[in-house]
This record gives sequence, C-alpha cells and structure tokens, in this order.
Amino acid sequence: MSPLYPWRYSAAVTALAHWSQDFYPRLGEDLLAQTGIDPEVHVSGLYWLDLEDEAEALAWAARERRDLRAVDIASVYGQVPVLGAGFAHAIHMPGVANVRNPRLVKALRAALAALPNVEVREQCPVTGFIQQQGRIQGVTTADGPLYAERVVLAAGAWSGELLKTLGLRLPVEPVKGQMILYKCAEDFLPSMVLAKGRYAIPRRDGHILVGSTLEYAGFDKAPTEIALQSLRASAEALLPTLAKAQVVGHWAGLRPGSPQGIPFIGELPSHPGLWLNCGHFRNGLVLAPASCQLLVELMLGREPIIDPAPYAPARRLFEGAGG
Ligand SMILES: Cc1cc2nc3c(=O)[nH]c(=O)nc-3n(C[C@H](O)[C@H](O)[C@H](O)COP(=O)(O)OP(=O)(O)OC[C@H]3O[C@@H](n4cnc5c(N)ncnc54)[C@H](O)[C@@H]3O)c2cc1C
Repeated sequence: MSPLYPWRYSAAVTALAHWSQDFYPRLGEDLLAQTGIDPEVHVSGLYWLDLEDEAEALAWAARERRDLRAVDIASVYGQVPVLGAGFAHAIHMPGVANVRNPRLVKALRAALAALPNVEVREQCPVTGFIQQQGRIQGVTTADGPLYAERVVLAAGAWSGELLKTLGLRLPVEPVKGQMILYKCAEDFLPSMVLAKGRYAIPRRDGHILVGSTLEYAGFDKAPTEIALQSLRASAEALLPTLAKAQVVGHWAGLRPGSPQGIPFIGELPSHPGLWLNCGHFRNGLVLAPASCQLLVELMLGREPIIDPAPYAPARRLFEGAGG
C-alpha cells in the first residue's frame, strides 16, 4: 500500500497515495465489521535495500513528513535474519502496510451486495456507449443496453479500447505484471523487503508474495516460465531459504499504464455524462480510496478532498483515434 519508490512520483500521485494510506486502516475495520471478511491491512513496515537514490528518498520524506529513516544494516539483519547476505545499506518506513487484495475485493463485493440499490452484473462485457442529445446516456452490453444519468469508465487497462469507440485516444496501455507466492512459517518474514525493483511481502499466515515483472506485451495475460525463473532468482537473492520452498502460486495481471502513472479522474468535457476513473498504472490499489472519494465528490458537486486539476481528463486525451 505504497508506491514502490514513492519519492520518484509526482505530487499528484503522492496526494492520492497519502490520503488513501491514512484511510485504509478504517476501511479494513469497517469492511470486517460489515461483511465478516478481513482484508488484513497488515502494518509490516518496509526496508529498501541498497538504493541508489537514498538521499532523494530521505529528502522527500522530510518534505512530506513521512516516517522514513536510514537504518544501520546490522540492525536490518537483526530484524530480518532470513535476509540474503551482502546488502550494504538500507532505509526503513515502519508504518507501511499491505493488504490482501483478493480478500479486499471479496469484502467490497459483499458490502456492495448488501446495499439495496446496487446490482452487480458479471460476465457482461460493455461494448460501447449510448450517445443521445449530446450526452452519454448509458452503455451497450452483450445483454443489451443499460441507461444511466452518468456513466463511470473504470475498465483498467481496457479503458482505452472502450474510448476508441467514441473516436478518442486515451493514453492508457496494458503493462503486464507477474508475481509468485510461497508458503512459509507465520514468523518467517517480519517486514516487507525491496531490492533492485523486486519485493517480498509477508502475509499474516506466512504466505510470501514476490513481485513483479514489468512487461509490454499487449493484452496477453499468460504467466511465463521465464518470468517464473526470474522472480525465483530475485526471491532467493532477497531471502535465500526460499530456494528450498515451493512456489504455490504464479499469475499475471495487466496494469493500466498511463503517463507518469497519473490517473484520469473526472468528467470528459467533450462527452458530458461520461466520467473516468482509470490509468492508475502500478498503484491502483493504494490510490483507489482517494480516487473514488475524489470522483464521488466531483460527481456530486461537493468540495473535493484534494485539487482535482492534475487528474482532469480534459487536454490529456486526443481525438480522432477511429472506431
Ligand atoms: C503483478 C501486479 C502487481 C501489482 N501490485 C500493486 C501494488 O502493490 N499496489 C498497487 O497499488 N497496485 C498494484 N498493481 C496495480 C493494480 O493492480 C492496478 O493499478 C489496478 O488493478 C487498477 O485498477 P482498475 O480497477 O482501474 O483496473 P482493473 O483492476 O484491471 O479492473 C478493471 C476491470 O474492468 C473489467 N473490464 C474491462 N473491460 C471491460 C468491458 N468492456 N466490459 C466490462 N468490464 C470490463 C475488467 O475485467 C476488470 O475486472 C499491480 C498490478 C500487477 C499486474
């Protein structure tokens, strides 16, 4: 629940990340109380190892008032005895949490299903938009048209494909990512660790998630052997005892890649009635609560939590992409 290297992002991403990070613990508690499903917001902290831009990271943290400190490498080995040998320096953010995203989605789905006016339609692809009297008034689907006063496009990496049907080009492209999962003893890894762009995340029950690849391969979502070997090598460099552990899961997903990872949040002025919430790239989970809150406030004409200007779709889309 933090960008991998938060100091390398723009103020626009930071603003959404910080609002969401402060909100997540309450969201986890509320969802557990409402649904009985615990998304496990787990504050484990995070060590960045052998970073090249440690000074930039520490300067960013001082500016943003986030608790990030340089730590003695001996103390890191004391805290994380399973860490591989040879790391020379580290910084630590004790307050970073992780969340079990499949459980989060299950809990959110159950909370939505309990609302009287919500209907979830699955396996029902949207094929285009209904445009009448200069407004977007609904969508066409495999099961027929659906009319609405306002439509929100939140189709992740596929958002651009849908906007093409309106002759618009949204700079959102699929960026494939693969991860692997191990199962270890519950106390195997007390903290998240990150080196050379690869990370290990401990779940409370001893599952260890290792990610991730960054691949530009269109809409292909198939896990590959080459990524499996590369992720295993990274996992074993970080935590050598994993060489003896079994990989119990391996999967791929598509991130909605966007320029600088800044999402598109707001109404499309050229197409009133059509709202966007997409393009969150590598940080869709961490940015989700703030993005949704901002979207709702804009839709209801309320005072927004943060300045919406950096996310406004106007001028960030191009016309004439064809059908
Ligand atoms: C390996 C990997 C690791 C990641 N790690 C992190 C992390 O640690 N932290 C973090 O914050 N983010 C992470 N991300 C990124 C995060 O997953 C994305 O940013 C996030 O999922 C984007 O959310 P979204 O709802 O916009 O899109 P998605 O989660 O992709 O959801 C879009 C949905 O729209 C549906 N859809 C598409 N087209 C249509 C259509 N025509 N009709 C109907 N439905 C449609 C899709 O089926 C999908 O269910 C990771 C991603 C990957 C792949």
